[in-house]
Parts: sequence; C-alpha cells; structure tokens
Amino acid sequence: MRIEIINTGNELLLGTTLNTHGAWLGGELATLGLRVQRQITVPDGDAITAELREAMERSDAIIVTGGIGPTSDDITREATAEVLGVELITDEAALRSIEAFFAHRDRAMAEENKKQALNPVGADILPNQHGTAPGIYAPPRMSGDRLCAIFLLPGPPGEMKPMFNNEVVPRLKSLADVTDDQQVRTLRFTGIGESDFHNCLDDTLAQIENLEVGYCARPAEVDLRLIGPMDSIVQAADIALTAFPNECFSHTGESLEEVVVKQLMEKGKKLSLAESCTGGLIASRITDVSGASDVFTHGFVTYSNHAKQQLLGVNEVLLETHGAVSKEVALAMAEGALARSRADIAVAVTGIAGPTGGSESKPVGTVWIALATPRKRFAIKKFHPQGREYFKQSTSQNALDLVRRTLME
Ligand code: AMP
Ligand code: MG
Repeated sequence: MRIEIINTGNELLLGTTLNTHGAWLGGELATLGLRVQRQITVPDGDAITAELREAMERSDAIIVTGGIGPTSDDITREATAEVLGVELITDEAALRSIEAFFAHRDRAMAEENKKQALNPVGADILPNQHGTAPGIYAPPRMSGDRLCAIFLLPGPPGEMKPMFNNEVVPRLKSLADVTDDQQVRTLRFTGIGESDFHNCLDDTLAQIENLEVGYCARPAEVDLRLIGPMDSIVQAADIALTAFPNECFSHTGESLEEVVVKQLMEKGKKLSLAESCTGGLIASRITDVSGASDVFTHGFVTYSNHAKQQLLGVNEVLLETHGAVSKEVALAMAEGALARSRADIAVAVTGIAGPTGGSESKPVGTVWIALATPRKRFAIKKFHPQGREYFKQSTSQNALDLVRRTLME
C-alpha cells in the first residue's frame, strides 16, 4: 500500500514547531507493517490543494495533519472537497458535538467553529474526543479511478494521536488487508558497529523468508529492525543474539537507561555517578526512567579540578601528575563517588569533548571511564572525536553499558 503523509502548518516550516507527526505516524504505520512512501510539509493556505492532487495520483492513502481548525488559514477541508469535486455540507451530528464541547466547558461557541462541522459529501466524520475539530475520512471510491483514501486529522498531537489509533488504524487495516502476522521488533546493540552486522549477519539474515531487515546507527549504538511474520523475526533475532550475545542490551526496544535501572532494581543495587565531561547527562538519562529514585543515589558533576578534589577527594598530586583526563583520575573519581555515596556501584567519566582543549597525547575525543564497586575497580579508554553532542551521548552510552555488563556478571 502506497501511503503519503502531508503535514500542514506555517509553524512547521518556520521551525517554531518541530514536525513530530511525520515521525510518529511513520513509526505507528511501521508497526502495522505499512510503509510511508513520501512525507511532505506544506504551509497553511492554498498549497495543500496542489499537493493533494499530486499525491492522489501516486498513492493509495493520504494522511493529512493540521489545517482543520476554525481560522481562515485552515483550509484543508475546503481543499479536499475541491479536489474530490464535491460540495461541503454541515454534518448535523458533528455540529451538535462541537456545540456540546463548548457547553461542557461553559464557553461560548464562536461563529467560526461552525465551519468545523462541514463535511465533503460522501465522506465520514471522525469523532474528536479531545478537541473541536472532527476528522474526515474520504473513502477510495470518492476519488474515482484513482481509488485513493484520504484522512484529514487535527494538528494538536493530543487530538491527532487518539484519532489515528481509534479511527484511522482500523480503516487502514481493512483497506490494506493487513493481517496481524506482520510484526516489528527492534533489537538494540552497543559495543559493535554497523559494519560488524554487515560482515557477520547480512547474508544469513537475507536468507530468511519474508523478512525486512533495517539498521539504524546512533551514538555508540546500532539498532537492528526486523519486520515480518513472528516466526521469521524470532529466527533472525536468534541469529543476531548468537553472534552478539553480550552486545545486545534490549530485545524489545527499551533504552539502555531503562535496562540499567531495571537491572539495579532486580539486584537491589544502588548507583552513583561522578561526571566531568558529560556534565550530568548520565544522571539525566538515569532519571528519565520512572523508579530511578530507588536505585540512584548521587550525581556529582565535577567539572573543574577544584570540584574533583572538593567533592570527590581526588588527590591534587594525581591531577598534577597525570592530568584531569587520565586513567588515574577517572579511578579516583569513581572511588571518591563510591565512598561518599555508599552506593554499590560508582561510575566516573573524564574526557575532552572539544573542539578546544586537545593535545598530541590527549586528542579531542579522548575519554576515560572508570567503574568502582567495593570489590573491584577498572577503567577503559574510549575515543569519540565527532563533536561535543556526539561525544557526550556516546560517552554516556559507554558508561551505562559498563554498569549493565557489571550487573550481568
Ligand atoms: P492546526 O490544527 O493546524 O491548527 O494545528 C494546531 C497546533 O498543532 C499547531 O499550532 C501545533 O502546535 C500543533 N501541530 C500541528 N502540526 C503539527 C506537527 N506536524 N507536529 C507537531 N505539532 C503539530
Ligand atoms: Mg495549522
């Protein structure tokens, strides 16, 4: 099934609102085994008309978001009626439900809101439980020989998402003849690169029937996306896990921080962190997970040498002899965090994010990551010279992975 998405709104093109609908819809459709062929963003006003005409020629279904509000630049409804060559008439049930929406909130309904009850003749109204603008579904027969289904959905995410799930998904499923045997699964790996997959797995996975394989590289992570019937997915997942048993941190798409918090909870252990170059990112990721308060004790952000001495008790001589970015200081930071927090595991990071501050012996991108428990201590060196953001993200990933692997032992 060829599906196109048209997102409307000047705010999306001005960059004041991030177009999250394109990504969200793409992901939801993928879980149904459906793929988006094309996604286009158009400004408010006339542009939608030409875009709809073109998209109708190419696709079996079009999903439009935005432009069904009450204001004069919201003309998606009118444009759709025009390209389908039908009139707009007031849908009495839709009008009553808009009136009820306002009455329920003790608000007067403006005259402009009445236009939201207009429906192209022959189309279905899609109820909106969370706002005034009902959606619209024009079934394939309305576009004549082209047989293209058109869905108009509201812009606000809180209205668009439930309407998509409740009204669009069942219709698309029957149009596309989607059977429930199409599944999507994402396995997430760290500690290996994309090329390792290509070298070790590509040929084997290609032999599995009805399976679509995709990779997504992220900072210090590769995701393996498997789409197909469940037995093909299980077969492929087994092969990937046999090849990289310790590198796979999630079989179900969970983030690394979710995995680590879960492990800490299961083992009844507590974590503390001493961060220099990541500036608190690791602590931020851990505290993104609900329940982190049960397992996370301290996050020391010790950016200066003074802070490393004052808060973690790192010896001044160590700092002078080896420099802040060194194995010795990373270990001392981890030990200091462990002793001061009385946690079970402490992790410390110290490195050079760049672009300034590098030297020949310690180039930009160098980072030391140390881990300490009451029974052991060790440090590893990593190199992430791809820019500050990538550096911080990759370093936080490496640090969390050290915790994961330690807890696996
Ligand atoms: P509209 O229905 O076009 O008036 O959109 C109302 C509001 O929904 C906009 O002001 C945005 O805040 C939000 N919105 C619309 N389209 C998108 C989109 N593609 N991604 C994220 N938010 C959106
Ligand atoms: Mg808009």
